Amino acid sequence: MLKDLAKPVMYLKGVGEARSRLYEKLGVFTVYDLLYHFPRYYIDLGEYVSLAAAPLNENCVVKCRVVRKMQAARIRKGLVVYKAVITDDTGDATLMVYNTGYVFQSLEIGKEYYFVGKLSGNLLRKEISSPQIYPVEGTSPVQPVYSLTEGLTQKMLRQNVRSALEIFNSSIYEPLPKDIMRDNGLCSLEYALQNIHFPVDSHTCSIAKQRLVFDELLTLQLGMLMLKKRSREISGCKMGPQDMEEFYSSLPFELTGCQRAAIEDCIRDMQEQSPMNRLIQGDVGSGKTAVAAGAAYFAFKNGCQTALMAPTEILADQHYETLRGFLEGLGAKVVLLTGSMTAKQKRLAKEGIENGEFSVIVGTHALVQKDTVFRKLGLVITDEQHRFGVEQRAMLAQKGDGPHKLVMSATPIPRTLALMIYGDLDISVLSELPKGRMPVETYAVAGSVRERAFGYVRKYLDEGRQAYIVCPMIEDSDSELKSVKEYAENMKKGPFKEYRVGLLHGRLSSAEKESIMARFKAHEIDLLVSTTVVEVGVDVPNAAVMVIENSDRFGLSQLHQLRGRVGRGKYKSCCILITDNPTEEVKKRLRVLSGTNDGFAISQEDLKLRGPGDFFGSRQHGLPKLKIADMTEDLEILHKAQDTARELMSKDPQLDSSEHKGLKEMTELLFEENVSDN
Ligand code: ADP
Ligand code: MG
Repeated sequence: MLKDLAKPVMYLKGVGEARSRLYEKLGVFTVYDLLYHFPRYYIDLGEYVSLAAAPLNENCVVKCRVVRKMQAARIRKGLVVYKAVITDDTGDATLMVYNTGYVFQSLEIGKEYYFVGKLSGNLLRKEISSPQIYPVEGTSPVQPVYSLTEGLTQKMLRQNVRSALEIFNSSIYEPLPKDIMRDNGLCSLEYALQNIHFPVDSHTCSIAKQRLVFDELLTLQLGMLMLKKRSREISGCKMGPQDMEEFYSSLPFELTGCQRAAIEDCIRDMQEQSPMNRLIQGDVGSGKTAVAAGAAYFAFKNGCQTALMAPTEILADQHYETLRGFLEGLGAKVVLLTGSMTAKQKRLAKEGIENGEFSVIVGTHALVQKDTVFRKLGLVITDEQHRFGVEQRAMLAQKGDGPHKLVMSATPIPRTLALMIYGDLDISVLSELPKGRMPVETYAVAGSVRERAFGYVRKYLDEGRQAYIVCPMIEDSDSELKSVKEYAENMKKGPFKEYRVGLLHGRLSSAEKESIMARFKAHEIDLLVSTTVVEVGVDVPNAAVMVIENSDRFGLSQLHQLRGRVGRGKYKSCCILITDNPTEEVKKRLRVLSGTNDGFAISQEDLKLRGPGDFFGSRQHGLPKLKIADMTEDLEILHKAQDTARELMSKDPQLDSSEHKGLKEMTELLFEENVSDN
């Protein structure tokens, strides 16, 4: 990078120690950072309105002459008001500025200015107080507005950005190779930075934005692809072909075509010299566990161990049971390893893992990773990996001696986004559900019909089914925990007096959680009141009805996940979304769920409604924070950037050629910042 750009902002004229500390609050440390501190929006002074037509108490721009300046008046100690009369021939108004005498002094009588602010008063006597003021002469009509922190003003920002641009423009710096700029119709970086900050009009601004969005998405994709390459280089456990027939025919059901294909993808990958790095993406209930079992069986036949890591003990437990069912009849011994086991149980398990007695080890993330010694670990499977970030995956890849890796995610996301977010993985999609599944009928209802909903639930229970009631609970809030407990008590005493009611929440010890889940599975509990701990993966096919309280507090994708706990067996299932806050917007959101059971469609809708920031939360996906690109809106540029990245990687995988030096730097910078963010 240009040396001068890496200098601290203090290097700029007018920026001293105090101001540079304010800049730090905005995450701006260097001249470069300031150049990439883009405006939040722009004011278009060209869209001024006449004083006569200007709305009251709303932000607007007026273009007026200064007619007369009045005497300054001291209102009270420390507060001086300067007044002037301004006009645009459709009317006039009183301008008021407080304390900033120099601003007032600089106004010239008879000269025209843009005033940006709110008019107050009434139609006869209008006032505008502390507006932003720009002389009409010599001012570009489009003005940037930055996010600030106390002590910084728009004017300071603009001045400092100008000097940063001067430094930038004084040398020729262009990280993108010419042909890439040409092929994608992009302007130069110099033009882009100039016009993102100080556009002449909205057209130049959008040209600038395209270039910067492209840069950001390109570097992001390059970073992901380089990560993928890096994990490719570690040599893994190359496996040999095996007969899978015994596995397929021993299953209690016939695999869907997608499940079959996904297993075959894994088998193919595991016969390569470099480790598999694959994501299984499938909607809730699409049967990801069976795919995991297939891959584990293949590893077993190759004399290798498989570790399956789950995010919670409940899930670890469940996977343990399931895999035992699938695999033990075929000779592969399965063992569970979780924190709530006794010291002796753990020791026995670990001994068996070390001496190779166990072929499949199921546990929580922490345990399987820690001091467990494997005899020959060939495959690591992680369930619900969307909770872990890119860096964690990269770290895992650097551990061990390069076992094959399989990741299972139940958050269906559009393919382009998947390519970005999981750009370091290959993807198999389970796009169909097992045969005979009936869609979960979903109703959004107001709290006033709660009693009727409970009646409906009782009907299911009387037919021998089981039910969930989910209450949202913000993690670790005592008052909310109390209310969930009370709620469960009320259910026990009231509408579900005749039934066996259990309560599951995150604050229970693992042993308690386990025992409740086990009792629910064994149908010793009819109705399980639960917080969102049931969200991920829990599989009890006899549960056919779910009520979700305060459903407006959940995102659509999360509701879809929750709802996925029912409709997993052969019974017709139903989900009732209760809301005490039935605004139009809430109803509209919830109606998406009544309308479809397709997780992909739902996540797309969720993305549209909430934006990717909220949807994933940058922590969750572990991607760098994007400054300007929006992966859901800038789709066209996203495609171009992805194509370009792929082409670059095939030509120059390490970006080592001198032509790509700038790009490599930009890529490293993006990922470096991300690491220090977390
Ligand atoms: P998820 O993809 O949500 O993790 P699971 O692996 O838990 O789904 O599977 C959901 C349920 O569907 C389980 O009860 C499982 O036994 C069953 N199942 C999986 N594959 C099939 C299939 N091909 N046919 C019928 N049932 C299946
Ligand atoms: Mg699952």
